[in-house]
Amino acid sequence: MKRGPVIAIDGPGGVGKTTVSKKVAEKLGFTYVNTGAMYRALALAAKESWVDLSSDAVLKDFCTGIDFRYDTGSGRVAVDGVDYTERLWTQEAGELASKVSVKKSVREFLVSYQRGIGEAGRVVMEGRDIGTAVFPDADVKIFLDASPEIRAERRRLELMEKGAQAAKEVGRELEERDRRDTERAVSPLKMADDAVMVDTGAMGIEEVVKQVVNVINERLRIGDTRS
Ligand code: C5P
Repeated sequence: MKRGPVIAIDGPGGVGKTTVSKKVAEKLGFTYVNTGAMYRALALAAKESWVDLSSDAVLKDFCTGIDFRYDTGSGRVAVDGVDYTERLWTQEAGELASKVSVKKSVREFLVSYQRGIGEAGRVVMEGRDIGTAVFPDADVKIFLDASPEIRAERRRLELMEKGAQAAKEVGRELEERDRRDTERAVSPLKMADDAVMVDTGAMGIEEVVKQVVNVINERLRIGDTRS
């Protein structure tokens, strides 16, 4: 049972989700939760434990036995006491996350963990399946989108900012990841029927944030009046 508003922000990679979601949470005074960071940390931890990433059964065993912690204040993620935060934004982590995230066992484990955090309410949660699978009853659902070319360029800049090597292959890898995310059998990336679509391609970040905050305030106000 949710104890306060949950805002779901979904969309493909490179669309500006993280920047927008963080700023929106800040403006609302809500907790920001990055679910991509969780998939990334879990994937790195599984790989380091020599887990067969292609086996759902082995991954299920792995998830059952781990101590998984996402700190909502700092955004740091640790698995069995090992802090993975500094390595989350490498291309390797993104690739591994995209591979393990198609596995049912991994999704069940993380979705349940994410619900545990979101139930406290006053949360802005970003991901791929927040409005469709994690919180289908989220108070407001936003779907951010932009053209593949714009997303590839943004992802390239983001990686460079984070200190990663400038990657020439960003466009192709993003395309491959999009394909895996949208075609997977369990909770594929897709806009919820009741989500509001915001095209981030033609706007600057501040404009997108303003638009998203306006949608949220409007929806939450309507919710208040009805209850
Ligand atoms: O958002 P980010 O690029 O950090 O996510 C990395 C990968 O984790 C995505 O490509 C996707 O495969 C997976 N993911 C997911 N569901 C989420 C968040 C991320 O499947 N809610």
